[in-house]
Amino acid sequence: MSLKRTKIVDIFNASAVGQQVCVKGWVRTRRGNKNVQFVALNDGSTIKNIQIVVDLAKFSEEELKPITTGSSLCVEGLLVESQGKGQTCEIQADKIEIYGTADPESYPLQKKGHTMEFLRDIAHLRPRTNTFGAVFRIRHNMAIAIHKFFHEKGFFYFHTPLITASDCEGAGQMFQVTTMNLYDLKKDENGSIRYDGDFFGKQASLTVSGQLEGELAATALGAIYTFGPTFRAENSNTPRHLAEFWMIEPEVAFNDITDNMDLAEEFIKYCVKWALDNCYDDVKFLNDMFDKELIERLEGVLKQDFVRLTYTEGIKILEDAVAGGHKFEFPVYWGVDLASEHERFLVEDHFKRPVILTDYPKEIKAFYMKQNDDGKTVRAMDVLFPKIGEIIGGSEREENYDKLINRIEELNIPMKDMWWYLDTRKFGTVPHSGFGLGFERLLLFVTGMANIRDVIPFPRTPNNAEF
Ligand code: ATP
Ligand code: MN
Repeated sequence: MSLKRTKIVDIFNASAVGQQVCVKGWVRTRRGNKNVQFVALNDGSTIKNIQIVVDLAKFSEEELKPITTGSSLCVEGLLVESQGKGQTCEIQADKIEIYGTADPESYPLQKKGHTMEFLRDIAHLRPRTNTFGAVFRIRHNMAIAIHKFFHEKGFFYFHTPLITASDCEGAGQMFQVTTMNLYDLKKDENGSIRYDGDFFGKQASLTVSGQLEGELAATALGAIYTFGPTFRAENSNTPRHLAEFWMIEPEVAFNDITDNMDLAEEFIKYCVKWALDNCYDDVKFLNDMFDKELIERLEGVLKQDFVRLTYTEGIKILEDAVAGGHKFEFPVYWGVDLASEHERFLVEDHFKRPVILTDYPKEIKAFYMKQNDDGKTVRAMDVLFPKIGEIIGGSEREENYDKLINRIEELNIPMKDMWWYLDTRKFGTVPHSGFGLGFERLLLFVTGMANIRDVIPFPRTPNNAEF
């Protein structure tokens, strides 16, 4: 084969009708009759397949036999306008080289209509389906959108460590990192494990959030964001939790809670618009196949201002709903950590648009959040989305050294691990705010997928670390 390969996406974008082209990809289907065969070829560059027309005057049945679903080919031929419905152009094959066959007896992606559960069991092959091709192209595009958004606003991408020796955030259960021999642990006189012989000389874990280090950076560079893997050993088997997920955490010096809400709203809208502008084919496919209201929902988010109200006002609405006969699985009262059903009620039933809840009871929020004058609440904000519930959690941070220390002592957080964090409040402290967006929660929204396991290539969840 002599011609340079063209990606299928480029074949459709730049019409080279009348030219000789070379494409390479994987066979999705082959059908036809004794005179002519049609091969649908996909190379992952787009959801669209290119149709290869194989004239049996030029090829023998024997040559075509190994061309089955899943096999990989290189095809050269003339690009012509298509006679068939639904496609703009097709290739009249002159030469076909088979790279690899895929035995129909054992290749699992034969017919369409596999369940999502089955596809999770073959996560190594599911990117070859239309659905997961679309999801992972969108995932890439969202990552680009995120970097573009922050870069254009003058934020710096800051890399925070994945291994940490301070569990002060309490954001979730941590995975321990150790090189100790688990069959022969050294203990002290109290029976506690001795970490002084461990790799880091103390107990270390995978990070649950880059925020604390992000604050160090924001109080130096002004505005930063992190975008990296995050680990939580929470044993919650829900469609919204992973043990390993990606989080985006902007942190901005001199921003108060209102600036923080403005940033969160502008950011999500930018990402959603990016998906509609840059991944329309894939979004449309997911809309048509899975979720007929997907595009409507995405466009709806762009048009509307997010509702902003306090936790206390939110609880009032939920209590009124309960009084009016609405049944929730979990109880509603001031002080409760809202469950996803409560969040979704506010968003989907009551306001019918995204909601930003602020000023939560301090007991259910982290120690670093700015304390309100009422002594009961903190300047927290959660962004709640349709179908998902919490998509963002953030706050204005407590910048007052004494107030922060008091809270740390109240909660019995080990101070010696926190000395470096406290230095931000000792030296040139400033008001500042930030938030964390779960990348996969954003992807759930943008793709319309129902389970978070289906928006990350290789999900890590309790009892599952295959691939
Ligand atoms: P939730 O209440 O949904 O468990 P959280 O309050 O523990 O979330 P935060 O600590 O506020 O979450 O983390 C910030 C964001 O990270 C959340 O808004 C969410 O988008 C995302 N997130 C948190 N935990 C997970 C998880 N286990 N898997 C995927 N995304 C997560
Ligand atoms: Mn949260």
